[in-house]
Amino acid sequence: MDTSNNPACGCQPKQPPHFPEQVTGMYILAKALKNVGIDNVYGLVGIPVTEAAYLIQGQGIRFVGFRHEQQAGMAAATEGYLTGKPGVLLTVSSLGFMNGLTATANATVNCYPMIQISGASDAAMVDMNMGTYEQLDQFNTAKPLVKAVFRCTYAKDIPAAVYRAYRAAVSGRPGGVYIDMTTPALGEVMNREDAEKLFYTPVDIYSPVAPNQSSVDRAVQILTSAKRPAILLGKGAAYARLEDKIKTLVETYNIPYLPMSMAKGLMPDDGPLSALSCRSTIMKEADVVMVVGARLNWMLSFGKGKWNPSIKFIQLDVEPQEIDVNVPVAAPVVGDLNLSMEAILNALEGKKMSTDPSWVPSLESEANEKDEKFATRIEQAKGLLPMHHWTALGVIKPIIEANPDVILINEGANTLDDTRDAINMSRPRHRVDCATWAIMGMGMGSAVGAAVATGKSVVAIEGDSAFGFSGMDFSTICRFNLPVTVVIFNNGGIYNGIGTPLDKTDDPAPTTLDIRARYDKLGDAFGATTYYVQKPEELSEALKAAIKNRRPCLIDVQLAADSGKESGHIGYLNPAPLQTITV
Ligand code: ADP
Ligand code: MG
Repeated sequence: MDTSNNPACGCQPKQPPHFPEQVTGMYILAKALKNVGIDNVYGLVGIPVTEAAYLIQGQGIRFVGFRHEQQAGMAAATEGYLTGKPGVLLTVSSLGFMNGLTATANATVNCYPMIQISGASDAAMVDMNMGTYEQLDQFNTAKPLVKAVFRCTYAKDIPAAVYRAYRAAVSGRPGGVYIDMTTPALGEVMNREDAEKLFYTPVDIYSPVAPNQSSVDRAVQILTSAKRPAILLGKGAAYARLEDKIKTLVETYNIPYLPMSMAKGLMPDDGPLSALSCRSTIMKEADVVMVVGARLNWMLSFGKGKWNPSIKFIQLDVEPQEIDVNVPVAAPVVGDLNLSMEAILNALEGKKMSTDPSWVPSLESEANEKDEKFATRIEQAKGLLPMHHWTALGVIKPIIEANPDVILINEGANTLDDTRDAINMSRPRHRVDCATWAIMGMGMGSAVGAAVATGKSVVAIEGDSAFGFSGMDFSTICRFNLPVTVVIFNNGGIYNGIGTPLDKTDDPAPTTLDIRARYDKLGDAFGATTYYVQKPEELSEALKAAIKNRRPCLIDVQLAADSGKESGHIGYLNPAPLQTITV
């Protein structure tokens, strides 16, 4: 290769490409993305990918430019989850790459299909540690955190890298894929005629794998013998668009279902067989639980302890390594969820369940009791001023439930737990949250991704701390004039605003933020419609107007500083609760 043409060497290309007979690697990248059906690219430009973003726009792909790569990545990941097509993130080398990689790693953990394409230094110079511009071995840095990695050193390899990355992202268990797009490849000039020959249409880019009939039969045998069966729905089932088949299974065989957070709405949360509020009873008493696109991880007590010790799990998952992770699975069904569920429904035909006649009614009456408790909780918080989390949620709940097409983005500690508990969902894939890693800092990116990918109205309910991680990308919502409303629950801190520092310092406590912060003014800076609300009536009016207006809106909700407890519902995970601190 002629390195004098290599900007990574600090020298300019000998001659710019001669249009229209010649093209660059950047053009080939843009066209490959278009060819494989990518509609949106999220990113943040700079050397060496700026021109690539222009050429991507030139292909009719929407380029959504962010203020921070992590948020661009969260947007791409959210598009991947909501559409089943990989979301694409474009970053610059070194820090831009690293910032984006956190989102790509998060996508991999959550099984969202996503491709991060990053500008990169000349690999030959990185390998020899020559101190080139933004030098970093990005290929090997990304490798342990994603499903697959590719590195393009030559422009001719770019289309195959893009197509193979797409296939890797969506196949089997979906996840993040990384393409190291080196500066030499991006800047390489090719004859257009030769370049056009590189494009092809990949065949069966998503090829679902069917389960074994014997495993299907085993699952059906165990399910139909159950006395107290239940179905546990995870976000894998939502991703796989399993709603119709789940409905058939649940309604035909009268089986109660329990959704994980992002599976809420796959079946209606307030449906007659919803066991949403009977989680601990299901764990303790069910004798067979069919786990559909969920993992028996920390969120489910690893399938033991709180669970009935003689429970039999049936587990449907595309990933064979997910089976028997924490407890032996009585009936694994490994394969694509749609094919697996179809096979199960076929095998069930003509068979009868052995469900104990008191099982469903007992869950129903427990669900009614719990609903009353929640209603009382909201009622008790109603008059509180300053508002508490449940005061605000008492207002927000009926508005969101009356607008089932709104996509809800949700992060925080108490703000996450209480919102998830309070707001019933009735449509699949209308809730995106901190997910498996329980991370903070997905809000603005996910809101942008949801709005861009679906065109629907989005409401992001954010703790004040959670908002801080991605707040600057509220400006992206404004620049692209997206129908997103951001609701900030300001209780002045991480968990709450009443942390007291040890008497050795005058600084704020580590958990303390600013109870007087006016986040609405941040919205004003970027031309959003904004509200600062202190009373339930004000919040109600603001949110209704915001959803109706379908334009960028920020609502700063003033809460009491003592509303919220340490770590929300997962305080038990703290190795040392704050009350026990000793110096
Ligand atoms: P939750 O957090 O809701 O419990 P998880 O992310 O833990 O959900 O689990 C989702 C599971 O779904 C993963 O184990 C993943 O392998 C699986 N999965 C995702 N898509 C499919 C699919 N199309 N077919 C089968 N399994 C899938
Ligand atoms: Mg807070």
